[in-house]
Amino acid sequence: MNYKNFPMVPRVIFGRGSFNQLNDILSPKRLNINAPFIYLVDDVFKNNSWLTSRIQLSYDDKIIFISSKEEPKTSQVDVLVEEIILLTKERPSGIIGIGGGTLLDLAKAVAIMLTNEGEAKDYQGWDLVKNEGIYHVGIPTISGTGAEVSRTTVLTGPHKKLGINSDFTPFDQVILDSELTKNVPTDQWFYTGMDCYIHCVESLNGTYLNAFSQSYGDMALDLCKEIFLSDDLSEVEAQEKLMMASWHGGMSIVYSQVGVAHAMSYGLSYLLGTKHGIGNCIVFNHLEEFYPEGVKLFKEMKAKHHIELPEGICANLSDDEFNTMIDISLSLEPLWENALGKSWKKTITREKLRALYQKM
Ligand code: NAD
Ligand code: ZN
Repeated sequence: MNYKNFPMVPRVIFGRGSFNQLNDILSPKRLNINAPFIYLVDDVFKNNSWLTSRIQLSYDDKIIFISSKEEPKTSQVDVLVEEIILLTKERPSGIIGIGGGTLLDLAKAVAIMLTNEGEAKDYQGWDLVKNEGIYHVGIPTISGTGAEVSRTTVLTGPHKKLGINSDFTPFDQVILDSELTKNVPTDQWFYTGMDCYIHCVESLNGTYLNAFSQSYGDMALDLCKEIFLSDDLSEVEAQEKLMMASWHGGMSIVYSQVGVAHAMSYGLSYLLGTKHGIGNCIVFNHLEEFYPEGVKLFKEMKAKHHIELPEGICANLSDDEFNTMIDISLSLEPLWENALGKSWKKTITREKLRALYQKM
């Protein structure tokens, strides 16, 4: 047995208001006055001085506001890298991503592509990155994806939706300040929070499970139950706990894998652009067969928070479109193998997947 040797985020700061320490954390990392810090910030904060006024820009430092309406694309990463090269006299001192999974993944990918030749699409896969990226910092403003802790940056390319999975992907520094999540709208809070819940269910019910993954998965799952089903938490407690659930859920899949919901939701998002959180919810809602307990609780959480999921999103798709979704989904072999074991191809046929998609 050859065990994998995974990197972890080496530095993390946790606490309400810890965002105020950002400048102290960054100053020693400035290489010189021509090597700026580039902040990639979700444009939902564009007119929000509460957050942006606390970013101290010096020398050539820049904030680039980015929309998270669409999931990150490899071409978008390439354009950003070009833009940063043109903007700066020297290679930047660091990239700071502020936002949800979309902005965190963009920051990770840009940091890698500033030091590696070619295009981002060339690195979609496992361990294809040759050079260490530049210093990069992740600051989540919504909790659930685990992107703050993971070894991947999920990108949609011309041919596939697949992460850049590498030892150089994880952040060098993460700032966990739950106050930054206080204005997340309820629907989005639920969708992204459920991403974490689904990570736990898929990891804990997978064939790749081991004590490492289980210890993190159990902890995150208990936190999710408390956050989404109990009435005993204050808002601040719920925000802090969801931030930690996201972290632990992400840690749980580091040493295992996700499963059926993710394999199918990647298909939806590739074809229809359905975003990850809501896409996972749409799929998971129909997966009783694979995760009976998990889906039952999910439905309770959905009802408690009055969440209505879209229905019939696959109603009018053509055969070609179904085939595209099925191809993308089936290509995620490790996810299926984790969910159903080595002989998963006996259970998961194209017809089976089509029948499931048709319910969504
Ligand atoms: P997101 O980053 O797409 O943001 C969702 C919405 O919430 C956006 O409209 C955004 O503007 C808004 N938002 C974020 N913070 C806010 C705040 N504080 N106040 C108000 N609105 C706020 O959502 P997400 O669910 O965090 O991320 C999804 C992305 O993460 C997908 O692209 C998915 O592929 C990726 N992902 C990555 C990993 C990984 O390990 N790298 C894991 C899971 C998902
Ligand atoms: Zn996910």
